[in-house]
This record gives sequence, structure tokens and C-alpha cells, in this order.
Amino acid sequence: MAYDPNNIFAKIIRGEAPCFKVYEDDHTLAFMDIMPQVEGHTLVIPKEGAESIFDLSPDGAAAMIKTTKKIAAAVQEVTKAPGILLAQLNGAAAGQTVFHIHVHVMPRYHGIDLKIHAAAKADFEKLKALGAKIAAAVK
Ligand code: 5GP
Repeated sequence: MAYDPNNIFAKIIRGEAPCFKVYEDDHTLAFMDIMPQVEGHTLVIPKEGAESIFDLSPDGAAAMIKTTKKIAAAVQEVTKAPGILLAQLNGAAAGQTVFHIHVHVMPRYHGIDLKIHAAAKADFEKLKALGAKIAAAVK
């Protein structure tokens, strides 16, 4: 499948769609997932137009993981979660629903299950406030 430049994350990168941004540099962007599976669920994307790990350049992959490391630390600092899950889905069969590569950064706690994937929108005011705290914690 060819990369679709009109997918929602491509629109977010171009500023054509809104997001609760927590971090941006020349090569990557991080923002709050609007249908979080857990409070603090954040997404990291490269700006390069790639659908999955298979068409992302090595430099794009390096930038994505470098930013993921920063965001994972900030999410952990803010949520105080004892665990942080990183997930990256490639292809519809793997559960991918937005075809611009991204890493999910999700706080995890003993005995608390994740909510269903991409199912329910969060309260936008709470998401905005949490996003601002995570943004402030990025080092
Ligand atoms: P995937 O299923 O492709 O791994 O994950 C896509 C993620 O993007 C889901 O967790 C879903 O909640 C999130 N998502 C879908 N549409 C939007 C959107 O318009 N804005 C944001 N911030 N997240 C979105």
C-alpha cells in the first residue's frame, strides 16, 4: 500500500489538524492520543512520510526512538507509573489503524488493564492539561 499523505497524522504534522502537542523537533512530533488506553497515553511520530517500520528510513527510525526515549521518561515522571509500555503496530493485521508510523507510549500499573484500543475519546480539557504537564517534563 502506498503512503497516503492525507492520513490524520500527516495532517497533524502539516498543522492542518489539531493535536495536544507535547514535543516537536525537526524530525519528530509527540502528542496525546485522543482515545487513550490509559491516562498519559502519548504518541511519537517521525515527520517522514512512512506507513510502517518497513518503509521508514534508518535515520527516521533513529529519530523516532530517540524522541520515544525522551517522551517515555517524561510520561513516567508525570504519571509515576511503575511501568511504561512501548507499542508499534505494523499493518492492519497487527492492529494498525492510522497508516503513518507511530510509537505508543503507555503507562502501566500492576493489576490495571489497558482500555480497548482506539475506542473512546478522552475529555479534551483533561487531555490538554496532562499534555501540558508531560510537555513541561520533557528534558
Ligand atoms: P494504531 O492503531 O494505528 O496503532 O494507533 C492509532 C492511534 O491513533 C490510536 O491509539 C488512536 O486512538 C489514535 N488516534 C486516531 N485518530 C487520532 C487523532 O485524530 N488524533 C490523535 N491525537 N490520536 C488519534
